[in-house]
Amino acid sequence: MDRKEFLKKGAIVGALTTLGASCTKIDNSIAAPSIISQRHYKWKMVTTWAPNFPVVGEGCNRLAQWIKEMSDGRLDIRVYGGGELVPPLEGFEAVSSGAVEMSHGASYYWAGIQPAFQFFTSIPFGMNAQQMNAWLDFGGGKELWAQLYEKYNIRPFMAGNTGVQMGGWFNRKIESMADFKGLKMRMPGLGGKVLQKAGGTAVLSPGSELYTNLERGVIDATEWIGPYHDYLKGFHQIAKYYYYPGWHEPGSVLEVIINKRSYESLPKDLQAIIEAACYRSNQTMLSEFEAKNNQYLKKIRAETDVEILPFPSDVLRQLKLYAEEIYEDMASQDEWSNKVYHSFKSFKKDITEWSYIAEGKFYSDIQ
Ligand code: CA
Repeated sequence: MDRKEFLKKGAIVGALTTLGASCTKIDNSIAAPSIISQRHYKWKMVTTWAPNFPVVGEGCNRLAQWIKEMSDGRLDIRVYGGGELVPPLEGFEAVSSGAVEMSHGASYYWAGIQPAFQFFTSIPFGMNAQQMNAWLDFGGGKELWAQLYEKYNIRPFMAGNTGVQMGGWFNRKIESMADFKGLKMRMPGLGGKVLQKAGGTAVLSPGSELYTNLERGVIDATEWIGPYHDYLKGFHQIAKYYYYPGWHEPGSVLEVIINKRSYESLPKDLQAIIEAACYRSNQTMLSEFEAKNNQYLKKIRAETDVEILPFPSDVLRQLKLYAEEIYEDMASQDEWSNKVYHSFKSFKKDITEWSYIAEGKFYSDIQ
């Protein structure tokens, strides 16, 4: 706000206050916030996604639009696709340093800074979207997340979820653990570590190269997201088997991160608007994933010869044991991983019992 504008607003408030002095205290309290509420903010939000990437990139555009509408234009956020302003995997540093106010991505992308971050997105054999929301909101997860990010001058918010992913595209069947031996599979993060324990090779191909790498045999298999995004990539044209479930990502939480100083410089109502918009995003992205994955699973079944197969139960059980060894190892090496993992683990144990009683029977017997 320039000086002239400020003085003009000051004069209006002054007049209201004078008027209020002869009336009631309530008039003063109405007049005071109007000084703050007129200030306009222009922010930048970088993202780890390609511009307008289905569901999540589009969801970021919607998030910015909602914030603008709810604040009547007072908080105007420009969205940048990954690489447009900063490289896709540098959003955390950009927000931490204050180079930009805000970023949308997922905490596991920053695992190199602190391994414990991964628990706030998704871990192999972890929790689904509903359970992650419950842990973060009411199980102590959000507080741990905030404490951990505060060290980097960042405020985190849940702002999307992919829902459970698919296990990936293969050209040979997985019938026992032996089939992982020598398997070159695109599998980032902790899932890749599990795959390595199983005798496979985790390859880190960027999303843009996955189709060509699978087609040319540079990799034998790949995971990506779920039926909607996988169909758009065209993997059904070059792979025979589509496996489920996505044991490596049972419900990936997407985040908005905001520079702490930028966030604290906002009036309380704009802070509340951001929080409400992030919650809205958290729900609508998940809903869109669920609705589209369902439609595109049907398309894959109807239009292709791909076999859609479950991983054998004993394979899943063994992969889970490998995953738990990795978490115990992480917890023994790092204080924060220990703290977050134990909160995650005990919440998961309890809520799994409840989910099984509340929902398990519907899925297993009443279809
Ligand atoms: Ca994935």
